[in-house]
Amino acid sequence: MSKIKVSTPLVELDGDEMTRIIWEKIKEELILPYLDIDLKYFDLHVSNRDKTDDGVTIDAALAIKEFGVGVKCATITPDAERVKEYSLKKAWASPNATIRSILDGTVIRKPIMISNIPPAVKSWKSPITIARHAYGDIYKAKEMEISEPGLVELVYTSSETDAEVRIPVHEFEGPGVVMGMHNTSSSIKSFAKSCISYALAEKIDLWFCAKDTISKVYHAKFRQEFEALANQREADFKSAGISFKYFLIDDAVAQLMKSEGGMLLALMNYDGDVMSDMVASGFGSLGLMTSVLVSPDGKYEYEAAHGTVKRHYYKHLKGEETSTNSIASIFAWTGALAKRGELDENKELVEFAAKLERAVVKTVESGFMTGDLASITSAAKPVKLQTTEFIMKVKESL
Ligand code: NAP
Ligand code: MG
Repeated sequence: MSKIKVSTPLVELDGDEMTRIIWEKIKEELILPYLDIDLKYFDLHVSNRDKTDDGVTIDAALAIKEFGVGVKCATITPDAERVKEYSLKKAWASPNATIRSILDGTVIRKPIMISNIPPAVKSWKSPITIARHAYGDIYKAKEMEISEPGLVELVYTSSETDAEVRIPVHEFEGPGVVMGMHNTSSSIKSFAKSCISYALAEKIDLWFCAKDTISKVYHAKFRQEFEALANQREADFKSAGISFKYFLIDDAVAQLMKSEGGMLLALMNYDGDVMSDMVASGFGSLGLMTSVLVSPDGKYEYEAAHGTVKRHYYKHLKGEETSTNSIASIFAWTGALAKRGELDENKELVEFAAKLERAVVKTVESGFMTGDLASITSAAKPVKLQTTEFIMKVKESL
């Protein structure tokens, strides 16, 4: 066959460890033989981030801003142990956090469903997609331990008039703890905007959940921003045939367990952190969870939700066989290619991405899978394949 021409460059961000090995193989076997594509390559290997003083991460984010769509391999977020392991100058920031702040994006995670990998919840028939607001709240909170009786207050000082507002938090009669947290209207608005764009593009209902009965200012602010933006786009919701619903978070959780799935669940930072891990394991394996960073102005970065699968990589380095699931990484490529195709109105490219996804699903459905899936599948006699064998089996289906 002749290669499909892709007219706009795609930004590629390479990564670390086991996923870097998978990445190379996917590109070599499943992408480059079929596409005539200009990949703007950025090597986010932790040593190269170190060498460039993390400049390569910033350049990659700017390239996504310029070209609109990127695809990213999992990367190490260095901690003290990694600094030693790779002799790094310092523990550089998480690349995902850096890219997210440059694109002002929201992370949306969606599980891949395969008929012989049954979800833990019987009623779930369609993927439950989760958008987590990844700014503020307890993740940027200031905390204090109180050891003696005393008054804790919230104090706001206007930088324009120096006027002060004070609210008592608690009059401590003995030891305790206290926390101050914040969010900004602009971040909440961007989050709501990204969620609404995604729900409209995917034509799935949008549920926003919080606890505004208890938090009548903080949580209520989120609800107000979502409702205001959703009201403005009412006509778009109607023509997409979808709805916006507000739920109390505890009600949403109860509804979710009885639902068929198929919605975008927009959640505040902590709820999103917790619920995304629950939903991921509910749908089977981390190897089946995809992730996309969506910016409010319509830039997209696709990746697998899992990390670099360090444990498997160390086995690989010792020359042992590994059975690492490449599905979420393959779907990062197909997600990015389909979006590129959609933006460029390149039908052939959109079709190629869909075919590659079907080839993956068909491979698993015919009983060939990696170890993580073999242990949970409903298939009678699953064949457990090694990392590369699985990719080659997908190529055969394709
Ligand atoms: P991980 O890569 O998510 O893997 C944790 C465990 O989950 C693995 O040991 C494996 O379990 C299972 N697993 C995850 N993905 C799998 C796959 N594709 N196929 C089969 N099993 C899979 O987390 P980690 O090993 O704790 O973290 C390694 C590095 O990843 C860290 O340096 C962290 O900073 C980074 N990280 C990056 C991202 C990102 O770039 N988006 C996200 C998270 C973490 P078994 O060992 O039981 O088989
Ligand atoms: Mg978590």
